[in-house]
Amino acid sequence: MTYCPFFIIAFVVLLIFCESWDLTWYHETTTAEEEMITLLPLGEIEAEILEALINRLKESFQCPVEIGEGYSLPPGTYNPDRRQYFSSQILSEVRKAISPAKRGKVLAVSDVDLYVPQLNFVFGEAELGGHFAIISLTRLRQSFYGLPENRALFLDRTAKEAIHELGHTYGLRHCPHPECVMHFSNSLQDTDRKEASFCQSCQKLLEEKNIIP
Ligand code: ZN
Ligand code: ZN
Repeated sequence: MTYCPFFIIAFVVLLIFCESWDLTWYHETTTAEEEMITLLPLGEIEAEILEALINRLKESFQCPVEIGEGYSLPPGTYNPDRRQYFSSQILSEVRKAISPAKRGKVLAVSDVDLYVPQLNFVFGEAELGGHFAIISLTRLRQSFYGLPENRALFLDRTAKEAIHELGHTYGLRHCPHPECVMHFSNSLQDTDRKEASFCQSCQKLLEEKNIIP
């Protein structure tokens, strides 16, 4: 069996090669997913709205953005007395449904009116420094207030709310500058007053966290 030593050496070299290739592949995949933003449509959401959001989020966060598998609104999160959905409960259901390996930042996009118990309504909610956020499109339409629809304004408001909630997941808190996207929106007038971008100090905080290359 003179070929045995060669066979064993070749086999060991092959194993080492496979192992290092596997590790490299695993490392790169994990990094890409950690940096990714996934949009999660809850119920029926127009494709055009999601496409417009993808472009705005790529610009703001300089990372890959994709549309994930859609879900229906979790039963049990609807409050018939308020005729609204409890956003914190939706977030906790979404958290259970997404495997940890797929988590980067996940933005659920819903078209129902959202609330938390202390407030009449919320435009969205997010985990501070976490993975999950949610926005509602319902109160961003002019038609909700009995006004003629304005598509460009609606898409701009959607981008602002999405960037704001994702900003929280990157660890940003509310900002005192009224033009900054991280300013708290108590009403739609606040949303319309602010820009769809971060002020210098919020931008700096994002860069310090190495979110923006
Ligand atoms: Zn906020
Ligand atoms: Zn700011």
